Amino acid sequence: MTDAVALTGCLTKMAVEPGSPARYTLRAGDERLDLNARLGQPLRLTWTGAIACTHCGRATKKSFGQGHCYPCFKKLARCDSCIMKPEQCHYFQGTCREPEWGETHCFRPHVVYLANASGLKVGITRETQVPTRWLDQGAVQALPILEVDSRQQSGFVEVLFKDEVSDRTNWRTMLKGEAVELDLPGERDRLLERLAPGLLALRERFGHDAIRELDGAPWAFEYPVLEHPTKVVSHNFDKRPEVAGTLLGIKGQYLILDSGVINLRKFTGYEVTVEA
Ligand SMILES: [Zn+2]
Repeated sequence: MTDAVALTGCLTKMAVEPGSPARYTLRAGDERLDLNARLGQPLRLTWTGAIACTHCGRATKKSFGQGHCYPCFKKLARCDSCIMKPEQCHYFQGTCREPEWGETHCFRPHVVYLANASGLKVGITRETQVPTRWLDQGAVQALPILEVDSRQQSGFVEVLFKDEVSDRTNWRTMLKGEAVELDLPGERDRLLERLAPGLLALRERFGHDAIRELDGAPWAFEYPVLEHPTKVVSHNFDKRPEVAGTLLGIKGQYLILDSGVINLRKFTGYEVTVEA
């Protein structure tokens, strides 16, 4: 057995590094817990009832947009709807909530990728988020296919792909480990051919170099999971502040316990005591 520990702090998303399997670190305030070392052992998380905004630190009764107080949720560009729907970027109308933040985060190269967490899906991410983004989704495979100059352009490309491929992960399927292995390079070739007219139209609009095909190798990911759940029951601190069980695995931003699963990212900002 590893030494018993108890720590308290506000949750932020788990840190994850690729590997065989991926390595997860739970983060609560300044405290850290190596979760891989706790596999097969008892783990208890207890919400103290407090939530602190991850941006300004003020106490909030409810969490908005994964860990923000209401004023920050209404004020920050990262909480605006154009983050989820980048094709609706309104920077050029002069209405970006934080133009400087937009310039450093949105006007940067973005990658359009195919991934497989619960089946084929398309997604976009900032280049600096590779490969973390895929690990956070619990993807077992990923393949970057196109590179563009801005978040908005990646949104236009994604919209095109959505006619052919889902942009969602079925988290229950992901947690059950039921994703079937896919030929991502084959899917890429098929989709690029099928969507060629739409891509051409976007290149005519943004410049022929604006949307670049990538020819990298596919990524594959392994997760520290002793046992996948056959029936997925989820814990929710808002309904029951204590979550306890034997840690059977970690995948995406979920802890898999023998008593149910919990999406820690959903509870960003929640102050918890972790006993392991
Ligand atoms: Zn705030």
